[in-house]
Amino acid sequence: MRKKEYSCPNGCSLPPRRKELKQFSDGTYGFDFNDFTFCPCCGSLMPYSLKKLKEFFEVYDLHPALADAVKLIYKSEFESAAREAFVTVENYLKKKSGLDLHGFDLAAKALSFEIDKQSGELKRAPLIAINDLRNESKRNEQDGIRYMLMGFFQGPRNLYQHNHIGSGASNSISVIIEASFFLHLLDGHSITQNGRWIPKKADYQEIYQKMPKRIDRWRLIHLLKKRARYLKKKN
Ligand SMILES: [Zn+2]
Repeated sequence: MRKKEYSCPNGCSLPPRRKELKQFSDGTYGFDFNDFTFCPCCGSLMPYSLKKLKEFFEVYDLHPALADAVKLIYKSEFESAAREAFVTVENYLKKKSGLDLHGFDLAAKALSFEIDKQSGELKRAPLIAINDLRNESKRNEQDGIRYMLMGFFQGPRNLYQHNHIGSGASNSISVIIEASFFLHLLDGHSITQNGRWIPKKADYQEIYQKMPKRIDRWRLIHLLKKRARYLKKKN
């Protein structure tokens, strides 16, 4: 008998779960279970893989706009999940840029900008800026993400649209994770500007002003008082 967590939730009949001769990823051989991620008959996620997947998404910082896409993964509707993710990114781009275009052209136009080659100044700002484009790394980021988005629509999106995907869970999960990466960037969370350590010499007045949470402000005061006491003792 198969345990419930290794059985198809739709009740498909599967061969008994027993240890079989198996090659491991390090090249050695032995006897172990060959478990299915999803049911080979109906394609439903096995209960144990559904549980692990949910645990993964608990720690993964998925963009909230993709909540519906993930629900479709949990329902083992992998292709619909990927399509939902494409639509979410496309609508996000449309809304943020105000352009009435689709896919590839939309991404190409929404993120493009012009630099004056002589002065290095920004000649035309992008409709959607991922960062302030003040140096070359930041401009490379903007350009790179633009190309990735163009490719995202030209490649995977079109393949899914025309059903040219032998879609398993992994492909669709990749699409959702990629979509989340893009959405965070489109929110202005540049990968050059994520959390960083604050140097000891900083403008604490400014930091205090930019702290939305009262508890954090209180902690900052506490930290500064502690630091002042420590310095006094040392001198
Ligand atoms: Zn099944």
